[in-house]
Amino acid sequence: MKLLMHTCCAPCSVYCIESLRNEGIEPICYWYNPNIHPYIEYKTRRDTLVEYSKIANFKLIINEEYGLRKFCKNVINDLGNRCVNYCYKLRLEATAKYAKENGFDGFTSTLFVSPYQKHEELKRVCEEIALKYGIKFIYRDFRVGFLEGQNKARQLGLYMQKYCGCIFSEEDRYLNNIIKDSEKESLIKLLKPSTMFKKQIMEYKRIFLENNDSFDGCAGLENCNTYEEWINFEERLLEKYGDNYVPSTVYLAIRKEDNKLIGMIDFRHELTDFLLNYGGNIGYSVLPEERQKGYAKEMLRLVLLKCKEYGKNKVLLTCDKENIASSKTIIANGGILENEVKDVPKLGKSGLIQRYWIRID
Ligand code: SF4
Repeated sequence: MKLLMHTCCAPCSVYCIESLRNEGIEPICYWYNPNIHPYIEYKTRRDTLVEYSKIANFKLIINEEYGLRKFCKNVINDLGNRCVNYCYKLRLEATAKYAKENGFDGFTSTLFVSPYQKHEELKRVCEEIALKYGIKFIYRDFRVGFLEGQNKARQLGLYMQKYCGCIFSEEDRYLNNIIKDSEKESLIKLLKPSTMFKKQIMEYKRIFLENNDSFDGCAGLENCNTYEEWINFEERLLEKYGDNYVPSTVYLAIRKEDNKLIGMIDFRHELTDFLLNYGGNIGYSVLPEERQKGYAKEMLRLVLLKCKEYGKNKVLLTCDKENIASSKTIIANGGILENEVKDVPKLGKSGLIQRYWIRID
């Protein structure tokens, strides 16, 4: 079997090569990774692989291309899907094409060793490419040997990278720090509900009922008699919505200064047909006495950071056309009005719902 193995870096190649050799296959490694940025990182990973090819005695073909500008141009409008829609295709197509043109029996990739890659999608991309180029895709789930390979690479003193490759994955590496810094600067914090706020949550309900306010972002608090009943989100909402249930995360907006619950906001991870017009991904409410102090805008800003952590690159928000405060809050956080639709269930006052998208990548 003459196998061409796309090789993303030396540490990932360690287990893949060993495991294939144990099967009696001697892979030829193929370096083509224009997705690695900046240049010094590209050069370090490439040179480490060249060095390792001498240590482990395998043949390495280098397809030289450093591609920051081309890469960014091609992924910038859809960063959330950049791995599957561009990066995997780019690298594996070049590999399959080379394999076909140079008499190989098949191709594979060291990317299959990493538990951090989108394994199943990568497999699908390879299968499609194999069909397109008329060459075999040799699939192996190398993930079982990821830690073993990484440990050996460390023992050999090979350079170990700290992020996947592209400049955006470098940013992701610091995302948690960026979010924490941003939360530190805020007057409020978003916390998941806990018994510590049980009394304040039930008081929130009482005030909203008294005020005849809409319980937006409260995950059905209005229908629950106790905190214990409310906190059982998944079971309760599954029972209520059945097939239309979508997982959501509810946050309490707590003012840091006095630990006061001032608002609630929830992030619905997916959009059903209903949510696409009425409700969107995010709903929120603020205590009547705490309104018009900028808290809604801040709550939305903070929850958008959480959405990013969940891998979202855009979210939908909707509001009644007459709710000027709400539309201002959305626009202040980057909301772009897509259209207005009829408020069929007549939840709001104006009979028209505005639909805004906020990009968060
Ligand atoms: S995160 Fe990794 S696989 Fe995804 S686009 Fe960046 S370099 Fe490619």
